[in-house]
Amino acid sequence: MSRLAEFVRGLSKAELHLHLEGSLEPELLFQLASRNKYPLAWSSVEALRAAYEFSSLQSFLALYYAGCEVLRTEQDFYDMTHAYLQRAHADGVIRTEVFIGPQSFTTRGVSIATVMDGVIGAIDNASRTFGISVGLIVSAQRHRTEADALDLLDQVRPWSHRILAIGMGGAEVGNPPSKFANFYRASKAAGFRTTIHAGEEGPAAYVREAVELLGVDRIDHGIACMDDPDLVHLLADRGIPLTVCPVSNLRLKVVKSLEVHPLARMLQAGLLVTVNSDDPAYFGAYASDNLLACRDALDLSTQDLVILSRNGFNAAFLSTDARAASLKRLDDYVRTFDWSE
Ligand SMILES: [Zn+2]
Repeated sequence: MSRLAEFVRGLSKAELHLHLEGSLEPELLFQLASRNKYPLAWSSVEALRAAYEFSSLQSFLALYYAGCEVLRTEQDFYDMTHAYLQRAHADGVIRTEVFIGPQSFTTRGVSIATVMDGVIGAIDNASRTFGISVGLIVSAQRHRTEADALDLLDQVRPWSHRILAIGMGGAEVGNPPSKFANFYRASKAAGFRTTIHAGEEGPAAYVREAVELLGVDRIDHGIACMDDPDLVHLLADRGIPLTVCPVSNLRLKVVKSLEVHPLARMLQAGLLVTVNSDDPAYFGAYASDNLLACRDALDLSTQDLVILSRNGFNAAFLSTDARAASLKRLDDYVRTFDWSE
């Protein structure tokens, strides 16, 4: 490993855009399928990994939802969450705010308690074992109705004290933020922070809707904002964070190559932009891999990588004290890192 790669892996990082279901590596997926006697369409781990070639967000979602089928019991949700947190910890992530989308499971008979108790049990164990700080974001699916999303909000109320925020992902085009105005109003009224995927495959207008109509605290992806200079100013002025996932954008053909990814331009425009892995098992890249890939493709400086990592803590839903402590840990590391070979 190069000194730079070592530096990036050891750098304290916050990951703010991570779907637990998208962290399910093929090996564990096969184990869970076998444990639950669930027949898979792939003959081997290698065959499944080879199927991870996507032409669009929709082609990815089809495989992602198929992968969700193997998750049945509380132990399955526990194992998936534990495996991700262990990897994130080894990758230098000290704060992670993870999405879980219960509707993939509850609509086929898995109870909401199975999902929530499994995920939360693993979070509690990893917090104790690895010292990693974890926040849980319940994510609704935007291809479903607003009534479905409101129903989900009701279902998770018993776990309110364990939920950091409410988010939304899934098929973006044709499902604009405005479809969920009442859902976001209700989520905020219930005391939750809010995020929404917008401006990934959808247009800048969706990002504007998310900010002006829904009033979300954070935008997931949001890269299409660069098509609207006024919107960029608005996002920069208000300091609204954007959780960008460069390798995901590449793998889902949202950008033609990483060399033309807008990340560097977003930084230059003064946006509070962060780098995240989205669905690392499917895209083959965890947090550090994303930073290193961007560094090479966009010719980012070491200082840019430090700024992106600092942005992660500034964009996280942390208390003032926890934010300051995380930034100090990061700055101390940067100051004392030994660059000699
Ligand atoms: Zn996402």
